[in-house]
Amino acid sequence: MLPDRGPDVLDLETAMARLSEHLSPAVRGLSTSPAIAMNERCDQMRAAGVDVYKLALGQSPFPVPERIVEALRANAGQKDYLPAEGLPALRRAVARFVEKRIGIDRTEDDVLVGPGSKELLFLLQLAFAGDLVVPTPSWTSYVPQARVLGREVTLVPARAENGFMVTAAALDAALSGHYGGPRILVLNYPNNPTGLTYGVDELREIAKVARTHDLLVLSDEIYGELHHKGQHASIAKHYPEGTIISGGMSKWLGAGGWRLGTFVFPQELGKLRRAMAALASETFTSTSAPISHAAIVAFEGGEDIERYLTHVRRVLAAVGRQTARRLTALGLACAQPVGGFHVFVDFGPRAEKLRARGITTSTMLVERLLEKTGVALLPGSAFARPDEELTARLSYVDFDGTKALAAVQVIPKEQPLDETFLRRQAPRILAAVDAIGKWIE
Ligand code: PMP
Repeated sequence: MLPDRGPDVLDLETAMARLSEHLSPAVRGLSTSPAIAMNERCDQMRAAGVDVYKLALGQSPFPVPERIVEALRANAGQKDYLPAEGLPALRRAVARFVEKRIGIDRTEDDVLVGPGSKELLFLLQLAFAGDLVVPTPSWTSYVPQARVLGREVTLVPARAENGFMVTAAALDAALSGHYGGPRILVLNYPNNPTGLTYGVDELREIAKVARTHDLLVLSDEIYGELHHKGQHASIAKHYPEGTIISGGMSKWLGAGGWRLGTFVFPQELGKLRRAMAALASETFTSTSAPISHAAIVAFEGGEDIERYLTHVRRVLAAVGRQTARRLTALGLACAQPVGGFHVFVDFGPRAEKLRARGITTSTMLVERLLEKTGVALLPGSAFARPDEELTARLSYVDFDGTKALAAVQVIPKEQPLDETFLRRQAPRILAAVDAIGKWIE
């Protein structure tokens, strides 16, 4: 008797293809995060020989400080799972770091460590049965995460004349009249994408609004240490009982790929923290042990890390200032950044010229720019702005941070970094802005 052939291989493939269409409603319509998708596209273009200016992914150009890299090497043998909340010594170091930098009392029990603050933000939304209030423009992932989890999102659009940063009054107006169910206000400063931040008075005002409306505040301070003057202030000082401080190693230590994020809670939110830790224990278990051990060195800090930060801030301040100044000189609207490594560019003042070429949305704008000049930006629509608004984020990170750091260290601190420094250290940023200018004309 002939052996049974079984189902045809082709039939099986079709069956599997059909199965893979059975996506959960939560992820239907979800696509790769815009910055990551654009970065992959840029890498493919570069591999094909196109000279691409990579100003779309917000990745620090600077190396991880040497002592932290050494600590990682020394801890490569750490192989055991860690507690879901994070390595106790690391949580202690993070609590002390926050106490020192922000001036509020926190202990290791208030800290949760995870594989990136992005993942912790997702767990927060999963654990907390409430909706999101998000000023826009806002970082790309808050809203998609909320949508996946079926949370409602109230967008509070900021206005161009305020540098695209939302005011306390606008927040209050947006919240008044809404039903008063549990809500998380996501506040990100220094801000991605605007590069702007809040002053102490504004934080105090926003804290008042948060208290009036019983909001839980997720204070995304991942760029806090990259305030260009080292003057970051936190809303947690004014609303300690309701603020979770989000941070990590990704931006100020140039360690995005190490995937380590931190949430620091007030004791009042202990139940929420424990629920998130339980979720962590049922999902990622714990962060990587070698990375966690190395992170202790980072959060304990020291003179070398302070020196590193001083120089990183000087370079970012100089490159950011020049970038914004040159974009403004092109007739575009762009506020001088005060922290991080992004600027938000409003092409609105040149809209007529662009419309004449059929460019009517931010998506079209960045597509055409990439195609014609090789300059990669992210469209305003990725930051929850209307697509018809001709805005885009430019991350001024396409330079050799290791080389720039070495060069800046020998220039006295009081001496500003001039044109010559920028031409030598960040030539591609200047060239990209020039290319944008030529293209507009
Ligand atoms: N918040 C903001 C504003 C960010 O820009 C980023 C990184 N792009 C994150 C959070 C997430 O950072 P990570 O997951 O690397 O901690």
